[in-house]
Amino acid sequence: MSEKTNIPELFGSMVFNEDSMKKYLSPEAFAEWRDCLKNGRALTLSAANDIAEGMKNWALEKGATHFTHWFQPLTGITAEKHDSFISPMSGGRISMEFSGKELVRGEPDASSFPSGGLRATFEARGYSAWDPTSFAFIKDGTLCIPTVFCSYAGDALDKKTPLLRSGEAVNREALKILRLFGDTDTGRVISQLGPEQEYFLIDKELFLKREDLRLCGRTLFGSKPPKGQELEDHYFGTIRPRVAEYMKELDEELWRMGVLSKTRHNEVAPAQHEMAPIYTEANIACDQNQLAMEIMQKVADRHGLVCLLHEKPFAGVNGSGKHVNWSLATDGGKNLLSPGKTPSQNAQFLLFLAAFLRGVDEYQELLRCSVAFAGNDHRLGAQEAPPAIISVFLGQELEDVVNSVVSDTDYTDRSGGSLRVGVDVLPPIPKDTTDRNRTSPVAFTGNKFEFRMPGSSQSIAGCATVLNTIMAESLSLFAQELENVSAEDFNKVLHELIKKSFTEHGRILFSGNGYDSAWVDEAERRGLKNLRSTSEALPCYILPKNVRLLVGQGVYTPAEIASRHEIHMEQYCKVISIEAETMVDMIQHGILNAVSNYVSHLCETVARKKYVLPQASCRVEEAMAESLSQLNEELLDDMVQLKSYLQTVPRADSETLLKYYRDTVFMQMEKTRSVIDKIESLTATEFWPYPSYCDMLFSV
Ligand code: ADP
Ligand code: MG
Repeated sequence: MSEKTNIPELFGSMVFNEDSMKKYLSPEAFAEWRDCLKNGRALTLSAANDIAEGMKNWALEKGATHFTHWFQPLTGITAEKHDSFISPMSGGRISMEFSGKELVRGEPDASSFPSGGLRATFEARGYSAWDPTSFAFIKDGTLCIPTVFCSYAGDALDKKTPLLRSGEAVNREALKILRLFGDTDTGRVISQLGPEQEYFLIDKELFLKREDLRLCGRTLFGSKPPKGQELEDHYFGTIRPRVAEYMKELDEELWRMGVLSKTRHNEVAPAQHEMAPIYTEANIACDQNQLAMEIMQKVADRHGLVCLLHEKPFAGVNGSGKHVNWSLATDGGKNLLSPGKTPSQNAQFLLFLAAFLRGVDEYQELLRCSVAFAGNDHRLGAQEAPPAIISVFLGQELEDVVNSVVSDTDYTDRSGGSLRVGVDVLPPIPKDTTDRNRTSPVAFTGNKFEFRMPGSSQSIAGCATVLNTIMAESLSLFAQELENVSAEDFNKVLHELIKKSFTEHGRILFSGNGYDSAWVDEAERRGLKNLRSTSEALPCYILPKNVRLLVGQGVYTPAEIASRHEIHMEQYCKVISIEAETMVDMIQHGILNAVSNYVSHLCETVARKKYVLPQASCRVEEAMAESLSQLNEELLDDMVQLKSYLQTVPRADSETLLKYYRDTVFMQMEKTRSVIDKIESLTATEFWPYPSYCDMLFSV
């Protein structure tokens, strides 16, 4: 890429966006596509054919040879199966074809994707259907068509379908509220997401030498380097040339794909960085985040680097999360989480605020489950932000407002008595309060909520689905309360409703230090849940109230919930099992031998020394040889124990297995790790078979 990149021209050049559609489709087909978005109407076959033809012509001009239905199975990553456009003609020649049927519906042979029992083997195939709300794009010479993925019975087998359904739910319920406030203009309410993506960059050569990184995405051991993040010199620090080159190319690739990459900087841990795009519609933000994660890894490879998206590649320094900024806006561009200027706008804002707080309080477990998986256990509930207890930080001003409504007392800065909803104007609420309270899992940041619990590697569809759905339910209940109220009573009833809701759910508000152990006790007194690990969280996924919520809002069927519950538990067990097997393998093939070689080297040194210099002391060599050979035996015992745990996995239901993998296998890995770390710190570098933390964290 030359110095003079024309970014506006580059932006979206690989996306079949509205501009390209206008150019490549007939006016009728274009109008039908617009109508399909606006009114949810299905496309006619003739329009689909027309769109397919236009899409193909555009893609061929861009050099594409294949097409694929690009979908998001429950593995949490994306899947694709490429078909070329070629079609045989007479005389042994070919033409390039792509039909409307191929555009709107595909049948990937997908029997190996997790379905959690939703798909019996006799009907193993699922089908994928075009999601016309997300633009097609070209990736590596393949036209990618974003699709939903379902079983033949119509059960969602993917992450996109429930997200779309939750978007519908929150649209439906938010519109009811807006109508009650006299808004007749808004046609649609859209949930919007801005995911801040953290990642590590390390040298590829070092990566390849670590079996744990290659197979598990994280280091399973590694003694702490003398310097970590104590000096806080990396955060927002100058970006080193090699990383800067990477970020430049990454931005250009993302822009080409229409991803609004906006911010890039170094993060807290050494070798840790962040990319944040400008927020957009939830469905698109989610597709683009999946795409961004893929591109980040590809671009890294071109620079001799590896991009680690795991939540905790290195113990002892910060892990990586994905702060998901969430808000609701109207199709007219009005943010519904923005405090307004008039009493009526403010009343509406407070109602949406109350709805959110109710949802988070009522469904703490579900929200916690949406970010519960093996990788994220190293962050949540460990010694780093955010804690596993869900609470909401509003900032001083807004919390004062809430308190004033609850207690009918004066809002401090005001003279005219207590704050009456729908009558008074809110005090100005600063968009950026100085104390951002980084320890809070959910923070109000002026006109959006920032959910900080999601892990860096995970799809944001799951948590966005929950956020949309809890909001939809709260709004639906509020709408019922307000529906038949006369105009003159409206403000009074509204005030009481908001006051009641704030009062009932005020326990979810917390502005103190989330790391503090006192918070754990305080949260318990308040009755807040502290689900410290995946194995504690996931059983709550199917609590009757959660099933009622998700089914009630039309987001999942009971069978879809059950299948996801099953898949998430299974996934956890598989991850821990692979990590444990990898650890055993590395100990057996790498560490035991290496240490034994080093001990033998030390002993030879002692023998030689005693021969040549009979009077000299061998304290250093003897002490090290002794400690190491003892530790190596300890390691052997721990490894044998770990292996035996893996060989004696009980035959039991998934919940029992979940606990077994956490309490038995994972705990044994932790114990084993501490021995390895001690050994590493005593072993001479030339004998240690793996790159050290220092090598990996400080080499790029
Ligand atoms: P921070 O200080 O946390 O970096 P920013 O204002 O820069 O806060 O926003 C971080 C992310 O939040 C960005 O991805 C941004 O686009 C997104 N964001 C901003 N406003 C909204 C909104 N109304 N809804 C959803 N996301 C938003
Ligand atoms: Mg942020």
